[in-house]
Amino acid sequence: MAKAQICDLQQHLEVTQNLAKKRKNDSMERSPLTDRKINVETVADSNKNQAQRSRLPQPSLKRMRLNTTVDNIDPAVVVKKSVCSAASASSKGVSSRPSIGVRSQYGVGLARAIHGTEARSRAVNCAATVAGVIGKKPRVAVTAPSIVQTAVGSKKRPAWDLKGQLSDMKVQLGNMKTRVCEYTSKLEMSELQSRQLHESMDQRDKQLDAARAHINELQSNLKAVELLLKDREVELAKCQDENTAMQGVLENKLKMKEMELTQKVTCIEEQQSTIAEQRDMIVERDERLHCAEQERRRLHNTVQELKGNIRVICRVRPLLDSEREGLSEIQNVQFSASDEKVIILTKSEESHTGHDRKDEFKYDFSFDHVFQPIATQKDVFEDISQLVQSALDGYNVCIFAYGQTGSGKTFTMEGPDDMTCDTKGMIPRAVDQIFSTAQELKTMGWTYKFTASFLEIYNETIRDLLVTKPEKNVEYEIKLLNNKSKQLHVTNLKYVTVTMKDQVHNLIAMAKANRSVAKTAANDHSSRSHSVFQLQIEGSNSDRDLQCTSTLSLVDLAGSERLDKSQSKGDRLREAQAINTSLSCLGHVIMSLSSKESHIPYRNSKLTYLLQNNLGGNSKTLMFVNLSPLEENFSESLNSLRFANKVNNCVIGTAQVNRK
Ligand code: ADP
Ligand code: MG
Repeated sequence: MAKAQICDLQQHLEVTQNLAKKRKNDSMERSPLTDRKINVETVADSNKNQAQRSRLPQPSLKRMRLNTTVDNIDPAVVVKKSVCSAASASSKGVSSRPSIGVRSQYGVGLARAIHGTEARSRAVNCAATVAGVIGKKPRVAVTAPSIVQTAVGSKKRPAWDLKGQLSDMKVQLGNMKTRVCEYTSKLEMSELQSRQLHESMDQRDKQLDAARAHINELQSNLKAVELLLKDREVELAKCQDENTAMQGVLENKLKMKEMELTQKVTCIEEQQSTIAEQRDMIVERDERLHCAEQERRRLHNTVQELKGNIRVICRVRPLLDSEREGLSEIQNVQFSASDEKVIILTKSEESHTGHDRKDEFKYDFSFDHVFQPIATQKDVFEDISQLVQSALDGYNVCIFAYGQTGSGKTFTMEGPDDMTCDTKGMIPRAVDQIFSTAQELKTMGWTYKFTASFLEIYNETIRDLLVTKPEKNVEYEIKLLNNKSKQLHVTNLKYVTVTMKDQVHNLIAMAKANRSVAKTAANDHSSRSHSVFQLQIEGSNSDRDLQCTSTLSLVDLAGSERLDKSQSKGDRLREAQAINTSLSCLGHVIMSLSSKESHIPYRNSKLTYLLQNNLGGNSKTLMFVNLSPLEENFSESLNSLRFANKVNNCVIGTAQVNRK
């Protein structure tokens, strides 16, 4: 496009240049002024020469010039030339129009005044002026005599009237001078016009130069653009080559990746089949594991049965620092070195026969296990942990501590007041085991829900140990939840759903604190009340559609010591009667279960009524009999051992797992 424009411009430039040259030449050649000057001078010279050569009287130089001009110049030719020149200017002006149009289009701006109509009119005027001036001269010169006649009159002067002729000539000369003045002014006008033409020509030359420079600039730009274009083309070709090479590389890579992908897909398919095989194996193993677990539970239950559904563990607490006072060891309690199940109480009494002899009485008892004072809480728990496991397997489990006040029941069940990890009792340890075992059983598809409650029974009245400020007149009644399940619950009692063992520990601590408050208010109230911690366990195995429910009950009984009724009055007497009633009721229930009586007197006390599901055929019961090592407590220890022995000899049916 730019190239085409430049070519067009070049062509116009050439045309315009030629035109300009031609015009310049024409104007130079055809200038009437120049013609006239040359002619005048030439004629003057020839006249001069003629005058020099002739002896005749010489006319004046002015007259000669006029005559010569008239003689030598053909007016018709001059007029014709002028008209031609004007016509030529006109025609050139018209023909030049497109070029002017193009130039103005490119901003060159050639003056239009020189061309076109104005130029034409000027040329015509000029020609007309010259024609007018010169055209009249011959008439003046040629018809000089007629002018003399006109000036002088119609009468012809005789030849001798030189004076008249002279005056006529003077008149003619005056006329001629006037005309010469006119011609001179017109000549000046023409010169001015000529100068203007020259100026406009110069201006146009400058514009032409500017246009040329612009064209040169455009050409150089074009060349630069062409070079740039070539560079770009080279670059493009290079890029295309690179692109082709890259495409080849990428195609190769793609093929490689496709091959890798195919290999990986094959590998994945192989692995999937391996996984499927392993999954089948896992299912099979799960099945075997489940069977093994069921077998374990069955065997576990069998072992528990063989041990007896009511088991008794005897524990003798150590002497307290305050009790030592010279005593280095326990005097009246003996243990068998070979048998961990035997305990012997000894008592020496004065002989009836004489003062110097003393009779020694031995009372030996055998239980499932007898723990000596050195036994730790951990040792004791190991013996009952199997039973705790049974609670998760769906059996109701009841563990209670029996013994006189100060024998170590609370220590065994809960732990001391300044409890540490080593000294914590059976309740916190049982809770820990339940939660950790439940976690392990999760892998076999078992999930558990635990609900805890903690109450005490004092004077046959229930009190919630998980409520710090109990509302007045709140009645706690033991009721059947529903007839079908025979599950019991206490109205208004706080049952707390627990998900972590720490939650249960906090509840135990709260209950302990609430019991301590009561202790200060009612003077060792705790020794005269039973505390019952219960954890309801609901297990389900959704994979095998199995559910089991059970209750783990841990009971710290009131002190079993017998009060001297004759010395007890008022509240103390009522307390003693209530304790005796509930503990003897517990004994009766166990005996009735043992002798398989049709009626079991659960309802005779709140304790037995609450624990009815945990005592009997469908439960596993463990009794701690706690003994004080002090000789002064011999008779109470003996009573406790006798009660425990009765219980130990009981066989209470076969426990059934609570499955739905
Ligand atoms: P109880 O609850 O039967 O009335 P406690 O549990 O309160 O008896 O025990 C009375 C005291 O004996 C407490 O100071 C307790 O710390 C301590 N005691 C009990 N059993 C043990 C034991 N096995 N080891 C150390 N101290 C014990
Ligand atoms: Mg206690």
